[in-house]
Amino acid sequence: MNMAEAFVDLDAVAHNTVLLARAAGTAAVMAVVKADGFGHGAAAVARTALDHGATWLGVTSPAEATALRAAGLTAPMLIWMYPPTETFDDLLHAGVDVSVGSLPALEAVAEAADRTNVVAQVHLKADTGMSRGGAVAEEWPQLMAWARKFELAGLIRIRGLWSHLANAETPGDAGLRRQLRAFEAARQAAVTARLDPTITHLANSAATLQLPQTRFDLVRAGLALYGIEPVPGRTFGLRPAMTVRAQVLLTKRVPAGTGVSYGPDHVTSRETTLALVPLGFADGVPRQSTGRAHVAIHGVRCPVVGRVSMDQIVIDVGDLRVRPGDIAVMLGPGTDGEPTAAEWAQWAGTNPNDILTGIGARIPRRYGPVR
Ligand SMILES: *Cc1c(COP(=O)(O)O)cnc(C)c1O
Repeated sequence: MNMAEAFVDLDAVAHNTVLLARAAGTAAVMAVVKADGFGHGAAAVARTALDHGATWLGVTSPAEATALRAAGLTAPMLIWMYPPTETFDDLLHAGVDVSVGSLPALEAVAEAADRTNVVAQVHLKADTGMSRGGAVAEEWPQLMAWARKFELAGLIRIRGLWSHLANAETPGDAGLRRQLRAFEAARQAAVTARLDPTITHLANSAATLQLPQTRFDLVRAGLALYGIEPVPGRTFGLRPAMTVRAQVLLTKRVPAGTGVSYGPDHVTSRETTLALVPLGFADGVPRQSTGRAHVAIHGVRCPVVGRVSMDQIVIDVGDLRVRPGDIAVMLGPGTDGEPTAAEWAQWAGTNPNDILTGIGARIPRRYGPVR
């Protein structure tokens, strides 16, 4: 094996897609493969998800969209972020649906449709309370009136109406109720503007799994696709897809009082064995996890000691028999003693997506079951 590598278990992605598709009921499933499939490899995840019940792909940059098309993925695809200077010609030629949440973007899309002779498939994005992308309620009448005009001119088709939830984890949340009401108002505004979006969508992973009233025609699943349980305190049977592991490069027996790594912030309290593992903050081991983080060696949890370096960490394996070439597992499904991305997130004070998307580009991704 490589010195360090990430196994991506596509069977787990398949399992999670099937589970999500079942939860979605009659709604279609969009596999959100932004950020290189949350670090798992966008094309491989996309193919697997599409083979197991997903029918849409979701991305957040023109480069991601065109790369997936170049990789041979022809499924319906939605893009919801692009620079203000985007011309949309390439996206329209590539048959990518475009999210629009402002008048300038709508005009640019209509102009591109005129230039390219491709009817642009547009999903209008309503800001229902999250204050990220999308048009706020005051803008809906004008934006939708123009959308209707461009539709009548044969330039665009308003295929979708959508929004995103700030908190789908807490079913009784007041903000969630406000967003649901605002989304209903957006749908009404579309009817008033005589738009007829056939694809209404709102749900992310958490909403798909526990808020049936948010499923509409399509759900957009990220996190759950990769096996991260999206609702704190609940488990839906998802399987984490990524395992990050590395070979032990070196071991040494050291006496009590031995300094470890920079500072040193850590000094051994007893005679012990230290193991050097080639994973550092450049590979996504969070520096702020120092003092809490563990890896698994031979299925045994061993603490990361001393500061996390850019390229390496030191593991205190105690009296465990460890030799160079043995495998240290940073994270995985948690079925063989190894920590999960969710545990790393707790140690680092962040969320599991941050851990998964932080796994560095120099760690090669390998596909298949862990061997
Ligand atoms: C990332 C993203 C999703 C996926 O959310 P998860 O909580 O990871 O399922 C859905 N919709 C939008 C707009 C997103 O940016």
